[in-house]
Amino acid sequence: MEAGIVGLPNVGKSTLFNALTSSQSAQSANYPFCTIEPNEGIVSVPDERLQRITKYVQPKKVVPAILKLVDIAGIVKGASEGQGLGNKFLSHIREVDAIIQVVRCFEDPDVIHVDGHIDPISDMETIETELMLADIDMLQTALPKAERAARGGDKEAILRVAGIGACLEQLSKDLPLRTLEMDEKERKAINSFGLMTAKPILYIANVDEDDLEGKGELVEKVRQYAAERGTNVVPVCAKLEAEIAELDETDRQEMLDSVGLPEPALHQVARAAYATLGLQSYFTAGVQEVRAWTTPLNATAPEAAGVIHSDMQRGFIRAEVYTLEDLETYKGEKEIREAGKLRVEGKTYIMKDGDICHFRFSV
Ligand code: GDP
Repeated sequence: MEAGIVGLPNVGKSTLFNALTSSQSAQSANYPFCTIEPNEGIVSVPDERLQRITKYVQPKKVVPAILKLVDIAGIVKGASEGQGLGNKFLSHIREVDAIIQVVRCFEDPDVIHVDGHIDPISDMETIETELMLADIDMLQTALPKAERAARGGDKEAILRVAGIGACLEQLSKDLPLRTLEMDEKERKAINSFGLMTAKPILYIANVDEDDLEGKGELVEKVRQYAAERGTNVVPVCAKLEAEIAELDETDRQEMLDSVGLPEPALHQVARAAYATLGLQSYFTAGVQEVRAWTTPLNATAPEAAGVIHSDMQRGFIRAEVYTLEDLETYKGEKEIREAGKLRVEGKTYIMKDGDICHFRFSV
């Protein structure tokens, strides 16, 4: 799962991306199957449940869930027509699973705004418009081919034509595709287009150092805009976070205390991005490692096992599951088993956020 960071130039994207990916406790060595390009980084998703588990398991290492972030350079007005490096960036956005847009809410006369003044609503509209135009372009280009195939009786193409039509109608009402409720089959038929305004979006309001909680008027406007679209906003001072990220553990805590933050705002960003992507975690808890694994909401037990290894999904027999509350009550897996609280779940089990699991499988 990947999220792409977008925004107008000079809003603090790179500052935020660097802070997010440099402060990570996520070491790429733990993720050998994750190839990291230069404009990509991984962030760990802080989860206090990992610490709660390690009180009872004491593993050699603790591995949090991760997200891959892609720094997609600035989008400017006209990007959909090839302005700036327009199309190149847009094609990067097609490949990510969710969009994180940084919106400038900080005042700083030394940092020039592309439009000459700070107006977060206009910034959000500019990007939304560019993405909508690019989606329209993509759909209009694909339509004639789909129509030809549909006339030839291709069932998939018939669904595609219907899906394209529904999308174009929504976009003509000036609404992004994430607001469109769609027939599941039609959605699948147009999946390969990577439609950008169908992707979930999270807004980061890059605030001034003296408004860390985001109480200012500009952030309030961003919140209202996001609320009308059913999306979230996290206020972050990217500049301060970049400074915090460079400190060692002790100095970091002192700095956080002095500015009155309970934790780095980057933790909230990672968690909010995870939620925006529709993800949840389950845990494995052994003496070698206690680890959080990521699945989509509603994943089945075999699908969850497949996140660890495809063999485990293929040869899935059963999952043995307990909860963190069980662990805190009985103080150990052996005791949970003895108390008859270890659940045995089969192939159709839908994973719940926070399940602690063993998978039994044959190879
Ligand atoms: P990008 O073009 O969106 O990637 O923006 P950058 O991250 O390169 O930031 C542009 C300029 O704004 C840099 O000089 C940053 O130091 C500055 N900047 C970024 N975030 C903040 C912030 O929260 N407050 C202030 N005052 N300046 C910031």
